[in-house]
Amino acid sequence: MINQGSNIGIPVSKKLLKNLRVVNPCSKPAFLENAFVAISGETIESAGSTMPEGEFDEVHDLAGKVALPGMINAHHHLYSTLAVGMPLPKNNPANFIEKLQEVWWKMDLALDHDSTQACFEAGLLDSLKAGTTTVIDHHCSPSYIEGSLSLLAETGEKMGLNISLAFEITDRNGEEKFEASLNENLEALEKYSGSPHVHPTVGMHASFTLSDESLKKIHDAVSSLDSWGIHIHVSEDRADEQDAADRGYGSVIERLNQFDLLNQNALIIHGLHIKETDVDLIGEHNAMFVHNPSSNANNRVGMTPNLNLDELASGLGTDGMQANMLREGKEGMLIRSSHLPGGAASVDYMRLLFGNNPEIASKLFGRKIGRILPGYQADLAIYDYSPRTPITESTVFGHVFFGLSELPSDVITRGEFRIKDRQLLMLSEKEIKANAVTQAEKLWSHF
Ligand SMILES: [Zn+2]
Repeated sequence: MINQGSNIGIPVSKKLLKNLRVVNPCSKPAFLENAFVAISGETIESAGSTMPEGEFDEVHDLAGKVALPGMINAHHHLYSTLAVGMPLPKNNPANFIEKLQEVWWKMDLALDHDSTQACFEAGLLDSLKAGTTTVIDHHCSPSYIEGSLSLLAETGEKMGLNISLAFEITDRNGEEKFEASLNENLEALEKYSGSPHVHPTVGMHASFTLSDESLKKIHDAVSSLDSWGIHIHVSEDRADEQDAADRGYGSVIERLNQFDLLNQNALIIHGLHIKETDVDLIGEHNAMFVHNPSSNANNRVGMTPNLNLDELASGLGTDGMQANMLREGKEGMLIRSSHLPGGAASVDYMRLLFGNNPEIASKLFGRKIGRILPGYQADLAIYDYSPRTPITESTVFGHVFFGLSELPSDVITRGEFRIKDRQLLMLSEKEIKANAVTQAEKLWSHF
């Protein structure tokens, strides 16, 4: 357990950010000109157009820069960070399952401690640089299981991000690795439950790589704990639904429900081919649902219906495709548009990113995350952005998805600058990148 009360008696540092343009999509007000943001310790104390009273240890003049809330990636695979440019299999995978077998399951099996660490460091660096300050990760390194989630938690702590942990439990690597993966999740649950910046979950790969016996084992291992929730890929491809049907279940969601694995803390990822009754079941359990449009497009598995995203207040994740959430939101919108006839309703990706993701992160971490409002964790992505059209409450959408094309110049998490004037503070970006290149070469030599 991380000690949350260690600063009792130590005065909390107070910062004032001034001369900011605060863009707060899906919050009221959605835009503040000439704003002041007062931060006390890790928390936003006030955000408004008048200078707050009181003494401040630091005052930062942001000279008219534009601040967005630090963003949340509601489903990520940091373990795929070193896959950029990776050699592809000689034979082009013909479908989703072949893609898993030929690419991802070979790569994850080749990850050792050092390459996993490089993935975490370089992946979180990428996230931070893109203004993504909370990462809900789904990890898999079957040759390096024990200690991998602690390594991720420690890396997140070192870089100042909020991290949700999960190790993908699966049958595909044999019983010993199944047990070790289950155990890694259980240890993280014990170690980090109640921690302010680390949220442990029970990671499961997908229904089609888990037998009934395995689902029962997972349920029996966690059901007596005070708080737990699964984090699982569901119905990403039709093959997952076919597998559940072949095992005698009405659907993947019905199968998980039969084993009492659905609850309000469950993270249901993808859900492309779920039925109306599955939507109802997810809703009844008040479970969380996460859409990953760029990955779905890349894997050619189809598109989640508009209605399901609306009804389930879906979050937005990248499924390891990228760290930049503004890009994911824009790509999601464009991918959907390309499939819709003129005049048809689409999905509000700004709502997914700045409305639903903060709800998901706040529920998981038990604190307010993802808005520039009093009482929220002080996570901000600040852009040196000179707009060519007026920013007002009603033009926020256009500026978010069509104006802010550069990375933020400054990133604050938990009230501390982590990136200032494009420079990563405290750690060497150059060293992290150089190590990642070395580890990528080593990793790729395995296939
Ligand atoms: Zn995924």
